[in-house]
Amino acid sequence: MQQNIERYYQRNYININREKFDRWMVSLLPPLVHIVCGALFTKHYFEDGVFKIHFRNNGKEYIERAKYLIGADGAFSILRRQLLPEPFQKTYISIQEWFKVKNQQPYFSAVFDGEISDFYSWTIPKEEYILLGTAVLPEKNTTQKLELLKKRLIKYGFEFQNRKKRHGAFILRPISSKQICLGGGNLALIGEAAGLISPTSAEGFSYAFRSALALAQSIQESPDNLAKQYLKNTKELRMNIVFKNMKAPFMYNAFLRKVAMKSGLLSMDIHA
Ligand SMILES: Cc1cc2nc3c(=O)[nH]c(=O)nc-3n(C[C@H](O)[C@H](O)[C@H](O)COP(=O)(O)OP(=O)(O)OC[C@H]3O[C@@H](n4cnc5c(N)ncnc54)[C@H](O)[C@@H]3O)c2cc1C
Repeated sequence: MQQNIERYYQRNYININREKFDRWMVSLLPPLVHIVCGALFTKHYFEDGVFKIHFRNNGKEYIERAKYLIGADGAFSILRRQLLPEPFQKTYISIQEWFKVKNQQPYFSAVFDGEISDFYSWTIPKEEYILLGTAVLPEKNTTQKLELLKKRLIKYGFEFQNRKKRHGAFILRPISSKQICLGGGNLALIGEAAGLISPTSAEGFSYAFRSALALAQSIQESPDNLAKQYLKNTKELRMNIVFKNMKAPFMYNAFLRKVAMKSGLLSMDIHA
């Protein structure tokens, strides 16, 4: 924004309806899996060789016993907080709004504006809506930052009048591999609970799927030495985060980003 540079890059994404996608994944579970929707995990402890897992459902407290405990509870993972009480070093708040539009923009956009965030903001077309979102550090003026972003993007021709939805969520940004926590013993964390998410684009689906697969394979390969096997099976994923952090200055240092964008490397021309 401050450098006033725009570039178009070709990327291939799958644009999904998140709720339908989650429901479809749940539908794939085999019948022997007992699903309890709407339950809230509260605490756990290890006793007599098993995990005792406390959760609340419909106002009642339950305890489940299990040999393995797997935390897939996302960016604000309670399980991770119980293992490591200090907060994750870089946690952002993302605010996203949905607007109904008449003229859809046929592209996704990533907006870098140092006055709004040291991370990035985005617009995503989704059927008859355009989504506007930003990931900002948790400070007092997050809403004002979104308003400023809106004002700036309207000048580029975006329509943000007919707001239908607004939601917020946490997003982690692992700035070093030390922030990845895979658990230990028979307790494992997967996905964003483990801190596995791209530190440059905040994309986390592939990390969530790949870590889940790595864990499933680890349980099959080495059920009695799970932690060691899971560490081994996630090596590529963890290295991927290290490489992304090495690439980060070319996206997030204003000078280097300007050089990269001015060079036109990998960008494409758009003809009206
Ligand atoms: C606005 C936004 C847009 C995003 N867009 C993209 C994108 O386009 N592409 C991409 O790859 N990534 C995207 N991400 C990141 C992506 O959503 C996450 O990285 C990914 O969903 C992580 O998967 P997960 O299974 O680890 O956690 P989640 O998908 O967050 O799932 C965690 C689950 O645990 C549940 N849970 C949490 N606490 C408890 C508890 N105490 N008891 C019981 N259940 C609990 C939650 O309700 C949730 O269902 C986006 C994130 C945000 C916030």
